[in-house]
Amino acid sequence: MPGELLAIRDATKYFGGLEAVSGVTLQVADGEVLGLIGPNGAGKSTLFNLITGVYAPDRGEVRFKNRKISGCKPHQVVAAGIARTFQNIRLFANMTALENVMIGRHVRTRSELAEALLRTPGFKQEEKAIQDYARSVLDLVGLLKAGNDLVKNLAYGDQRRIEIARALATEPSLLLLDEPTAGMNPTESAEVMGLMGVIKRKGIAIIVIEHQMDVVMNISDRVAVLDYGKKICEGSPFEVQKDPKVIEAYLGA
Ligand code: ADP
Ligand code: MG
Repeated sequence: MPGELLAIRDATKYFGGLEAVSGVTLQVADGEVLGLIGPNGAGKSTLFNLITGVYAPDRGEVRFKNRKISGCKPHQVVAAGIARTFQNIRLFANMTALENVMIGRHVRTRSELAEALLRTPGFKQEEKAIQDYARSVLDLVGLLKAGNDLVKNLAYGDQRRIEIARALATEPSLLLLDEPTAGMNPTESAEVMGLMGVIKRKGIAIIVIEHQMDVVMNISDRVAVLDYGKKICEGSPFEVQKDPKVIEAYLGA
């Protein structure tokens, strides 16, 4: 594939006797938005876990920028340029929005723990740079004003966008979003859709797991469908929508 960014080949993951992800082969090009859909339990989140180093595949491999990343630890995958959000929000509720985003930024900086404890001039300068970068990302997701608010006091939709901001602070070239609009009202969903457009225009590729078909069809360059761990279909949003296998997987579920 020209401009190939991510290449998953034959990825397979068992949980006991259950083949949660089964021989999945899938590519993502530079800057592409891939929609990943399929019924509950199809293996979508597990595939994200295989890409991000939460699990090593039992078979197959994941390559990113022509380097094998399957088997790498999650922090190594982040450093390589893949960031993610989770199906259930994982933020530090008692920290501010800005602090949560700054945590994402720390993977791109070099200060050692000793420097941090001694608060050397170099450390303070770097801390300022981290803060400035985190602010710019908060601005990008439309939440600059919420920077000093504790996360637990923010609306649900805003918390979801803070999580996206934290992922963006790692400067990824590929962003994985696991059901970013789950539980949102139509206004909040539309905001997230707009944000995905902004991220795409920055040249960042996205894989988005999404249940709302209108969202998927709107923002995806390409759509892949998982069912019982297997990729059953892949193509343009238009092609996928009219594929009998896809219709059956959804109506049968
Ligand atoms: P999806 O995100 O498409 O809804 P998942 O990837 O979460 O699906 O799950 C795929 C299958 O693997 C499901 O049957 C689920 O119950 C199972 N599964 C996921 N994670 C684990 C785990 N850590 N241990 C055992 N089974 C799991
Ligand atoms: Mg899931």
